[in-house]
Amino acid sequence: MPLWFARGLRRGVVTTRYPARPDSSAAFLPTPPAFRPRQLTRETADRIVAACPSIALTRQGDVLLFDVGACTGCGRCIAAAPHAVTPSGEWELAATTRSVLIKQIPIRGEQP
Ligand code: SF4
Repeated sequence: MPLWFARGLRRGVVTTRYPARPDSSAAFLPTPPAFRPRQLTRETADRIVAACPSIALTRQGDVLLFDVGACTGCGRCIAAAPHAVTPSGEWELAATTRSVLIKQIPIRGEQP
């Protein structure tokens, strides 16, 4: 019998203390991106839209639409434009309505 199993039976606790306390392993979780609107140009936006495998990103004119509910946190958009996109560090995402997961990010970078 594995030792951790016997210890869990003896103590009665076999999981972490989350959500009562933050779990240190959360620092290693992939998170959805955050965007720097002043670093976003239409060209940069189109590049990250093309890099997104889950179609969580689309561009409508000078607005980047980000569907947080479709994002898998894969990080491809961050790799495609690290100057304009960073990990948000936020992984506790919950919503009672789907529409609040659609974010509108203004594209404010200088156009070439
Ligand atoms: S992290 Fe991946 S899934 Fe999420 S927006 Fe970026 S490319 Fe798309």
